[in-house]
Amino acid sequence: ISSKLPHVGTTIFTVMSKLASDCGAINLSQGFPGFDCDPELLELVSKYMKAGYNQYAPMSGIPILRERIAEKTKLVHGVDLDSESEITVVSGATEALYAAVTAVVKKGDEVILFDPAYDSYAPAVELNGGIPVFVPLEMPDFSVNWEKVKAAITDKTRLIMVNTPHNPSGYVWTHKDLDTLADLIQDRDILLVSDEVYEHITFDGRTHLSLLTHPMLRERTFVCGSFGKTFHVTGWKIGYCLAPPKLTEEFRKIHQFLTFSTATPLQYALADYLAEPSRYLTLPDFYQKKRDLFCAGLKATPFEFIPAQGSFFQMVSYAHLSQESDYDLAVRLTKEIGVASIPISVFFSDKKDHKILRFCFAKNDLDLNKALDQLININ
Ligand code: PMP
Ligand code: GLN
Repeated sequence: ISSKLPHVGTTIFTVMSKLASDCGAINLSQGFPGFDCDPELLELVSKYMKAGYNQYAPMSGIPILRERIAEKTKLVHGVDLDSESEITVVSGATEALYAAVTAVVKKGDEVILFDPAYDSYAPAVELNGGIPVFVPLEMPDFSVNWEKVKAAITDKTRLIMVNTPHNPSGYVWTHKDLDTLADLIQDRDILLVSDEVYEHITFDGRTHLSLLTHPMLRERTFVCGSFGKTFHVTGWKIGYCLAPPKLTEEFRKIHQFLTFSTATPLQYALADYLAEPSRYLTLPDFYQKKRDLFCAGLKATPFEFIPAQGSFFQMVSYAHLSQESDYDLAVRLTKEIGVASIPISVFFSDKKDHKILRFCFAKNDLDLNKALDQLININ
């Protein structure tokens, strides 16, 4: 069979999680919490399942959940959304990203992707006949070089895919980033997809600035969010897409044939759970403690690092220690030291090895401390 994605293999997340499991290693590779969600949330799901909420939900999501997402958006970002025409519940941010790209990218359209980028973006663009145009982020903080973005824009540019807080680096966009993007695209027919799955995970007093908060950007943006990240339930695959009515209309045309709708009892449970804002407003503090614990422990290891600004990932550099490729080192550390990580070369368009590993610190403190103890021994 002639592959539609000849350069794509099995994702690194599957590869490293399997290796971690085979080796009995502490899994700091794939990004998922190593602890369970709030038992109250589980009780809500169980309540709705037992009450018979087990058939198809409405295609765009149940109204009460869409209203609760609107309330959250108002509270967190000060932005009013119409829950009927601007909010769609989806089966994870991965679906939202794919549906948004599919809704707007036609054959030959250019799509600007920041490099490195989360691994699902480029395949989504390519499967729709689009051409990924990669703009390298600036080392060491992975900030955006706007001169390079300007140089990459052509008459064929249809879409720019943004990710803040950024995976794998944790870089958090600033007001200047939003304003510069707006200046660059204001006279052009360019749309935006903004992957904001780590919206509630920012550190050291930083605030996540959703593209929704910028009036001009808001008119052109599909914002993709994930309850998996916010409520420690990545296995539920449930999230949302926020976009102006005309974009939402096109988005739903794809969503209805991709998954049609998303697990009904989960939607009812999350709607109830969202009624109490402290459940997401406490997330920055919760993860700041984990980031601080992990970074304090890393100081005793030979790795070099800049503490992450956001997300639940911490990158470390070992360029001063070894010439080993990041992939080889990640595999060796899993097998020999018992700690699994992600080699970030997989996120780069050219797979270039920058001698950087990514660790997920969304784990319980016991595992983080154990992993840190084991990492002291690297050589
Ligand atoms: N975008 C980014 C940047 C991610 O790290 C992830 C991984 N969780 C996703 C999207 C996918 O989110 P979901 O599990 O809700 O599909
Ligand atoms: N987003 C997660 C990460 O970056 C992985 C999600 C997945 O396995 N598809 O590790």
